[in-house]
Amino acid sequence: MTNHIRNCPACVASRAESFLLTSQQSANGNLYRVVFCTQCNLKYTNPLPSDEELGLLYGEEFYQKPASQALSFDYVRSFVYRLWAGQRRGALLGRTAGKALDVGCGDGEFLASLKSNQWDTYGLEFSAAACALARSKGINVEQVDLINSDFPSYFFDVVTMWHVLEHLSDPLSALHKAKKILKDDGLLVIEVPNSDCLTFHLFKTHWTPLGIPWHFQHFTPKTLSSILSTAGFTVTRRQNFHLFDFVLTFSSLMNWLDILKRQETSNPNGHSLFADFSQAGNTRKLFFMALGIALLPVCLLYLTITVLLTGNSETVTLTCQKVSGEITESEKTR
Ligand SMILES: [Zn+2]
Repeated sequence: MTNHIRNCPACVASRAESFLLTSQQSANGNLYRVVFCTQCNLKYTNPLPSDEELGLLYGEEFYQKPASQALSFDYVRSFVYRLWAGQRRGALLGRTAGKALDVGCGDGEFLASLKSNQWDTYGLEFSAAACALARSKGINVEQVDLINSDFPSYFFDVVTMWHVLEHLSDPLSALHKAKKILKDDGLLVIEVPNSDCLTFHLFKTHWTPLGIPWHFQHFTPKTLSSILSTAGFTVTRRQNFHLFDFVLTFSSLMNWLDILKRQETSNPNGHSLFADFSQAGNTRKLFFMALGIALLPVCLLYLTITVLLTGNSETVTLTCQKVSGEITESEKTR
C-alpha cells in the first residue's frame, strides 16, 4: 500500500509546514499529519490514504442515517428535521423553485424538502444504500462523483455541497465542474467544518470535525473563500451559527475526555459519536448520558458566546455566485 503525498489542493504549491501530528496511522505505518500551505495557508491532510484504505474508509457501513432519523419519537424527529432543513434552505437566499443538485445527497432528505416546495431535484451519492433511499423519495440520483457526472452546462439554479468538499482529493476541479453546470445567476452553497473555531484550537486532534483520515482539507472561512475565488466564485452570504453545531462541541469534549472508547482507524464506525455510543459498555453509556444532560446546555451557551466574540462556530456555510458567466476553455475540458 502506498500513501499519496500531495501538493496544496488549492494553489498547487509544494511547500507546506507541519501544523499537527495526529495519532491516526496510515497503512504504511506513518502518522497522518495536518500541514499548512506556506503560500495560501490552507490546512490539509498529508499523506492521503491509499486506495486500499479508502475502500475500507468508505465501505458499506460508512453511510449512516442522519441524527434526525436516529431519534425514536416521530414528533421529535419531524421537529428536528424541519428545523434542520429550514436552516439549510436559508442558504438559498429566498429562491423558491428551479433545478437543484445536492452533491453527496445521502438519503435525499434535504432534496425532499426542496421537492415538496416545487423544486426539480437531482442528487449525486456514492452509497448504493443511500441512493435507493433517495430514489424512494422521487429524487433523480446518480451513483457517481461530481467530476465524472454528465450534466449539461448552465443547467442548475442551485448546487449544494453539505460537508463534501473536505472529503475530496481534488476540491478545485469539483468547484470548476460546479461552475460549469450552474446557470449564470446560479448559487453554489458549501458547508464545511470551520478549523478556525475555538474548539479546534482548544482540543486539536480531539476536535471531532477534524475527521482524519476522511477529511483531506481543513478549511477556515478565509481559505474556503480563497479556493472559491480561484474557481471563479464570489461569496454573497456567510452563515456562522448553526443550530446543531453544539453536538459537535459536545462530541469533541467527550472525545477529549475519552468517555467513549474510540474505534480502530480502519473501522468506518469510528467516525460517529452514535456508533461509539452504541458499542460502549453500559456503565460508560450511563455516565455519558448523565454528562450529556449536564453539558449540552453548557455547550450551547459556549457556542453562542464563541460566535458572538470570534465570529466562528464549528461549521461555516458560504453561499456564492459565479464571478462571470463565461466558461473558459480549460473548464470545458474538465
Ligand atoms: Zn496553497
